[in-house]
Amino acid sequence: MKTPIIIAGPCSAESEEQLINTAQLLAATGKITALRAGVWKPRTKPGCFEGRGEEALPWLKKASELTNLPVAIEVANSMHVELALKHNIDILWIGARSTVNPFTVQEIADALRGSGKKVMIKNPINPDINLWSGAVERLQKSGIEDITLIHRGFSSYTPVTYRNPPMWHIAVEMRERHPQIPMICDPSHMAGKKKLIAGLCQEAADLSYDGLIIESHNKPCEALSDKNQQLTPEELNIILDNIDWRQGDTQEPNYILKIERYRDYIDQSDAEVLQILANRMKMAERIGTAKRAAAVAIYQPGRWDKIVRETMQKSEQLGLSDEFIRDLLNAMHAESIRHQRKIMSEKI
Ligand code: PEP
Ligand code: MN
Repeated sequence: MKTPIIIAGPCSAESEEQLINTAQLLAATGKITALRAGVWKPRTKPGCFEGRGEEALPWLKKASELTNLPVAIEVANSMHVELALKHNIDILWIGARSTVNPFTVQEIADALRGSGKKVMIKNPINPDINLWSGAVERLQKSGIEDITLIHRGFSSYTPVTYRNPPMWHIAVEMRERHPQIPMICDPSHMAGKKKLIAGLCQEAADLSYDGLIIESHNKPCEALSDKNQQLTPEELNIILDNIDWRQGDTQEPNYILKIERYRDYIDQSDAEVLQILANRMKMAERIGTAKRAAAVAIYQPGRWDKIVRETMQKSEQLGLSDEFIRDLLNAMHAESIRHQRKIMSEKI
């Protein structure tokens, strides 16, 4: 199995002491691939701590020299890129609020042209996969070859559990579109609070992500940004110890034997389900013919309520989730109505 990429560090570089101390504690875990720290912070409201700016870049370089780890910062315009290149920062990332804006992404891509830098691209704050893909294309067109994607979740009007709900399926589709580009998960900005981070890390490992980028601060309760989601290096170390990283695939003979048998069964079941659905729709067409002859409406609420009630009861006993069965029934009902409508609209 490949070793996962683990990028860790504070949300923001606040002082030389905070940064160096955090970096050394993180490096001592022996599990970190690179350090992160924001120096220009995109804040929702004015008046909050907006980062130390250029002043912090030499602190990052010092942290890098002391720990022998590369360092990563966020860049949001061409001035940031120029300063990052001037200070020889190893890795740059485009934040979620920048990925949404093609003008910004283009400005950054132009400033990076010919630099050969490693660039990480966070998903945009809104769940628009094309914007994310568009950012990849803009950077590739600028000659940037070393790209990593960061899945950090999507903003929501009602963030009930997560600060930025993961919506894993969007990231999965993004990986299908760009299979050669590594994807890491940012559970810190998804969670918004410490206690949800370990679970999200395991979910990312289960989906065979290439690694994680996690916020860690030597004194989280004194953090000037994203206080509630920052872990101490010790807390991070425990979480990392307990993640069960799965391998992408294996050729181990016992596993192959077992998995092939199960997959045969699944393939047969899928074929049977398909045939049963086709039969069900043929029956729906006969119903359509009978309803047309009797001048009865397609939708019969009483009948549909009964089907939903009875099926939900049975499915619970079978260990199938409410959500799945409701989606399946709705899809079957919609398809059944389509078939009946086709019959109703046929010329006699
Ligand atoms: C960050 O990484 O500190 C940050 C601002 O993240 P995002 O762009 O995901 O909000
Ligand atoms: Mn942050």
